[in-house]
Amino acid sequence: MSRSGEFCPRCGDPVEAPEERPDLPGEVDSGLCDACYFEEFALVDAPDTVEVQVCSRCGAVHRGNRWVDVGAEDYTDVAVEEVSGALGVHVDATDVGWEVAPEQVDENTIRMHCEFTGVVRGTFVTEEAVVPVRIARETCDRCGRIAGGSYASLVQVRADERPPTDGELARAREIAEAYIADREATGDRNAFITEVTEVPDGLDMKISTNQMGGGIAKRIVAQLGGGFEDHETLVTEDGDGNEVYRVTYAVRLPRYRPGEVIDPEDGDGPVLVRSVQGNLKGVRLASGDAYEASFEDSDAPEARRLGTREEAQETTVVAVEDEHAVQVLDPETCEARTVARPDYLDPDADEVPVLKSRAGLHVVPERDSEA
Ligand SMILES: [Zn+2]
Ligand SMILES: [Zn+2]
Repeated sequence: MSRSGEFCPRCGDPVEAPEERPDLPGEVDSGLCDACYFEEFALVDAPDTVEVQVCSRCGAVHRGNRWVDVGAEDYTDVAVEEVSGALGVHVDATDVGWEVAPEQVDENTIRMHCEFTGVVRGTFVTEEAVVPVRIARETCDRCGRIAGGSYASLVQVRADERPPTDGELARAREIAEAYIADREATGDRNAFITEVTEVPDGLDMKISTNQMGGGIAKRIVAQLGGGFEDHETLVTEDGDGNEVYRVTYAVRLPRYRPGEVIDPEDGDGPVLVRSVQGNLKGVRLASGDAYEASFEDSDAPEARRLGTREEAQETTVVAVEDEHAVQVLDPETCEARTVARPDYLDPDADEVPVLKSRAGLHVVPERDSEA
């Protein structure tokens, strides 16, 4: 053993020269001999206890001075994560590994049995630590605001001259929930839906911010057609005397729905509505020609409602008479009748769907056809 001429500052024993101890990280080493070093060495610095504040409503965890969404379903996972964040491993240690075994003590206490291994001064060391984790169930700021009924905008879903269908209301709600979920996924804790209420003529959704209410209204209209207007209502003055407004987004879904059969009463007969995004588009039942409402009429031309594609019945094709006429059985009377032959009618078909309405008997396109 060579002598470096240096001595342990604690016990006075001679210590080896650093160049002969490549296992020592040097710069952080204390210069102590191994005996003195290990006497006061602790591989792990563990807190006596860890307290985790979790929101009992949404599973958010309080970290630092703010709530963070972790989507916690199991508090054990949260406890493991918080404990690992609170533990410090000695900087001199290399090849550090650790295992943790959570022990549920009671509903709000989890005892973490941690076992650490590492290599220090060329020596394999292990250390155990037991850290009790206390789960404090609280209500986060967001859930508190929701519970308090806080909202900044109201999205009202209505339809023009009719009640919205259940399908439209379900879709509008899905659109709102997806929009908010997207915002939440970016870590935005100001994104929430306070309340959804079905009202006799539609749906009211209270949304956390004005901007998000507008975003939801825009998406509903983009998918379901129609339009929206917004207006501000002064609700209160805040503590500093500033006026606080709430914005109502009044969505009006289009008068007619895809699948409805209407008569624009322009002499060319009934139209099956295909699309109501932008101006109304459809197909003439007599000819199969395309129909598009004029720009001024937008999605709601003046028209009579005749029925829906869903009400059509399959009936027998008796004979194709010529280019413009076909004979089919009247589904109610079972008499053969000559009706207009639209170009979407397959001349080889034995049966076709027909709709009987105030405007007479019409062959309608097959359900999945794009005619
Ligand atoms: Zn010593
Ligand atoms: Zn919460």
